[in-house]
Amino acid sequence: MESPLTLYNTMHRRKELFEPLAPPLVGMYVCGPTVYGDAHLGHARSAITFDLLFRTLRHWGYKVRYVRNITDVGHLEHDADEGEDKIAKKARLEELEPMEVAQHYTNRYHEAMHQLNVLPPSIEPRASGHIIEQIEVVERILAGGFAYEENGSVYFDVEAYNKKHEYGILSGRVLDEMQTNSRQLGGQSDKRSPFDFALWKKASPEHIMRWPSPWSVGFPGWHLECSAMSLKYLGQTFDIHGGGMDLIFPHHEGEIAQNTACCGSASARYWVHNNMITIGGQKMAKSLGNFITLQQLFTGDHPMLEQAYWPMTIRFFILQAHYRSTLDFSNEALQAAEKGFERLMKAVRLLDKITPGTESTVRVADFDEQWRKAMADDLNSPIAISVLFDWVRIINQLYDGHQTLTASDLEALKKSVSELVFDVLGLQDEQQSGGDRERVSGLIEMILSVRQQAKANRDWSTSDRIRDELTRLGVVVKDKKDGVDWELDL
Ligand code: ZN
Repeated sequence: MESPLTLYNTMHRRKELFEPLAPPLVGMYVCGPTVYGDAHLGHARSAITFDLLFRTLRHWGYKVRYVRNITDVGHLEHDADEGEDKIAKKARLEELEPMEVAQHYTNRYHEAMHQLNVLPPSIEPRASGHIIEQIEVVERILAGGFAYEENGSVYFDVEAYNKKHEYGILSGRVLDEMQTNSRQLGGQSDKRSPFDFALWKKASPEHIMRWPSPWSVGFPGWHLECSAMSLKYLGQTFDIHGGGMDLIFPHHEGEIAQNTACCGSASARYWVHNNMITIGGQKMAKSLGNFITLQQLFTGDHPMLEQAYWPMTIRFFILQAHYRSTLDFSNEALQAAEKGFERLMKAVRLLDKITPGTESTVRVADFDEQWRKAMADDLNSPIAISVLFDWVRIINQLYDGHQTLTASDLEALKKSVSELVFDVLGLQDEQQSGGDRERVSGLIEMILSVRQQAKANRDWSTSDRIRDELTRLGVVVKDKKDGVDWELDL
């Protein structure tokens, strides 16, 4: 393994040296999306954070079994226990089969992740495909005396659990304090305490997503799937559990209680949580009109967006902040990220055009050591990126001849830059990876050939107009003796 990796463990509230249970194998479970709508910036941040961790671990030499689930049942409208199933509701409104809704948004999620260059997980299990495993976990929790059945539903008994174990171990909440501040249960509830949560719910007649169980025809509680699927694919104890900070309570707290009640210990040894994205300082919410999906960002089709953004601009923007800091979205911030990213890619392309010298005037090992140290320190991508930008300046000096590197040092620099930029940060050069960029280039070339024709015809007004319009659109046109050169001024 290379440098030791430290991670902030939410469970212990401190940075800890990461030591896998069975090196070089690492088991990692991350809560994936509930597939009833398009992925937004929050999904992108979580997926990119754990993609960065996945890539860093792999680059450090670990073999990672990365499980990221798809929630396609059991996530209800209001909280873990109340309201209509989110997917069933969408299916009712759109007159579709619930699994059609789940598949549609799963496909769109995969497409968006692919555009963001997020690697697919090793296993992507669906909640609805693991009902039997979930029922088994409920049976074990019941057998241990940490749950009770009421009218066909099964609830986790938080008070009974808290007498033997510590409920609130992850979030730092204390049950006694929660009880003093809480509202009373309404007369309709089957629950003994408002803190209890559903493991299995009896389906009401209108609830269409339903399965047989020993207690009723019904459906599993939201927190249950992650306990059941991590147990199945990663075992009783595994290395890392991840997700957004908003999942700490009640979702992950519930998961820990379930696993402890079922199997005697919390599942994961390291709990890693990414912070949220705000928009103009506010939380993202449909009701505030600031809810921007990834598709809208890629097309610019949202009233708050001044332009479309390349997926790599969004990835770079997210990586510029440490995953545990809040990150505020604005057009200005994304435009700055776009400029920065383009400057970086220009330097990376320039590396191939540098002529080696007879001596080295800069130390490549410094670059290599500094970025690895930053990434090993709880995935400090902003520091790694700032080291990279120090070297963007140096690369330009190398190109201009103000600094020199021997051939072998130059090769070492190329290798180290490529490892950080492409393997670990997972960035892609869109100018080279084709797609839309290629189309834009083709269009510009075509327009410039029309302008060349106009010039040949001495139609100066057309040729000037084309140049002025292109300049206005950020395409810098440079006339040369033997033709014309252009570049995008981002
Ligand atoms: Zn989960």
